[in-house]
Amino acid sequence: MLTTADKETLRLRYLAERDKRLRPDGNDQYLRLTGDLAHFVVDPYTPRTERAPLDDFITVVCVGGGFAGLVTGARLRQAGLDVRVIEKGGGFGGTWYWNRYPGAQCDTASMVYLPLLEETGHMPTEKYVHGPEILAHCQRIARQFGLYEDALFHTEVTGLAWDEARSVWIVATDRGDRLTARFVVLGTGPLSVPKLPGIPGIGSFLGHSFHTSRWDYAYTGGDAEGAPMDRLADKRVGIIGTGATAVQCVPHLARACRELRVFQRTPSSVDVRGNHLIDPEWFASVAAPGWQRRWLENFTANQSGGEADDDLVMDGWTDIARRIRARVEALPPDARDLGALLAAVEDSDFEKMEEIRARADAVVADRETAQRLKAWYRQLCKRPCFHDEYLQAFNNPSAHLIDTDGKGVERITPDGVVVAGREYPLDCLIYASGFEVGTDYARRAGFEVTGKAGLTLSEYWADGMRTLHGIHVRGFPNLLFVQPTHGANLISNIPHNIVDSAATIALVARHARDNGCTEVEPVPEAEEDWVALVRSGPESLIGGADCTPGYYNNEGRESRFFLGEGYPYGPSAYFEYISQWRASGTFAGLEFRR
Ligand code: NDP
Repeated sequence: MLTTADKETLRLRYLAERDKRLRPDGNDQYLRLTGDLAHFVVDPYTPRTERAPLDDFITVVCVGGGFAGLVTGARLRQAGLDVRVIEKGGGFGGTWYWNRYPGAQCDTASMVYLPLLEETGHMPTEKYVHGPEILAHCQRIARQFGLYEDALFHTEVTGLAWDEARSVWIVATDRGDRLTARFVVLGTGPLSVPKLPGIPGIGSFLGHSFHTSRWDYAYTGGDAEGAPMDRLADKRVGIIGTGATAVQCVPHLARACRELRVFQRTPSSVDVRGNHLIDPEWFASVAAPGWQRRWLENFTANQSGGEADDDLVMDGWTDIARRIRARVEALPPDARDLGALLAAVEDSDFEKMEEIRARADAVVADRETAQRLKAWYRQLCKRPCFHDEYLQAFNNPSAHLIDTDGKGVERITPDGVVVAGREYPLDCLIYASGFEVGTDYARRAGFEVTGKAGLTLSEYWADGMRTLHGIHVRGFPNLLFVQPTHGANLISNIPHNIVDSAATIALVARHARDNGCTEVEPVPEAEEDWVALVRSGPESLIGGADCTPGYYNNEGRESRFFLGEGYPYGPSAYFEYISQWRASGTFAGLEFRR
């Protein structure tokens, strides 16, 4: 039990650790992977083949072949519309196409993370399945719903422009295509553009290097299925970054390399994973019709403060919410005010983080290393991690933590990496440095969207996102977004947002088709009201001004940055609201035109 003085000490420590990491350049500290760095994003998994440009018409173009494009494409096909997915990768899968690093695994339980399990009849093999199974599931969805037929892979959209005379979108690509489509679905993903840290000398390294989202198995040996990386046995390998990706791949590197150096700027909080195989008998006992919807609703309610009698998933995501609820429920009803709620949140967080820090001491043999692996911030300041081999990896004599005390790597030289004036010679340097989050939508998507009267989306969103339900945008008819912001904004399980938006989009597109409508667009007042509603919400528990910098708070510059705005009454309430909106059949707020 922490005393008042203990809590104050922790608050001060958290602030001091944050201050150490604040930097004036924010997101500008990272490099775009273009020009001399463009080779970092070349697809190492599928050879690119040439094809002739296309100029045909299709009812729906889905930009992005990850979960968003797959699930929305599936629902649109079920609604009887023709769909073409355009994807920059060499196949379906999105995040799971690109991220094939060793140990890649979902961090949210498979039963709720993998979309369309019921429709595809797939039983996940583990509570948290590994990357290859998720990629195979993506391919399964694409096959089952006929999405391979018209798909264009290794194709990047370069521009989207609304043709007012014909009520169609003109879709231009880097293959010279000039397609027309009645609707365009944008499922480009929140974290799809890899970035590198702007460390002085980064271009000078003469050894081998790659980003984790383009894992070079030709160099390391092994494969994404878990075969050992035998070509690293005589190699000195460095990895920059200790976020969710590094937490999953470091144990594999520690086993494979002659010597591994993990360059850390901010430690992740690494809680217990508790993975296990799924027993087919148990699965059969829970998988009655409608099971996945029940699980999704239950996880969301547990994780984000909704009403739930039981906790089906029971893991690190729901644990903190359980603790907060228990504290609040222990109070007399008339004492459950905002102050008491915030105190319950803070106390639960201190308790949780103390446990996670104690875990480092319990697991890591070297005292100094254990100390440096401890995270000094609130659990939801950064993406929480869960792993049962990451901390343990530092007990492997080949693995060394090189802590930069919040400063980051000082310099990269032709031979290796410099921290605090000491050079660490390396044969291979791996960047687990994450993805662009805080940059403009058009920069991350890779193209500009030009709507009615030549207005671009960048112009329209210059002062922030404006949508109805996170899906429709005034001035951009028939353009449909699949993403969490302005909607449920459920960050702990992105696919739940996607599955739900896909249902709305399929319904809207089918209604337009059935009624001979060529345009659908939100009415101005509906969009204005929605924007005002989502901006009225309370401060989020994710990120925050007092948090250590990271992509959750725009590198320490904007407290609600990543989470942005969402339905102010929470994810469960949004799903309930939008389900009633769909069921009403009135399409309130949308204008359908012939
Ligand atoms: P992150 O952005 O989380 O991590 C990047 C890492 O690079 C951080 O540790 C960062 O330190 C470090 N870094 C950046 N610049 C420097 C520098 N100059 N010197 C030293 N270190 C530096 O990227 P990830 O790829 O790990 O994860 C991105 C997101 O992808 C996750 O947060 C998660 O949402 C998702 N993900 C999901 C997984 C799943 O569900 N299974 C698995 C993996 C990722 P600092 O913290 O100080 O900025």
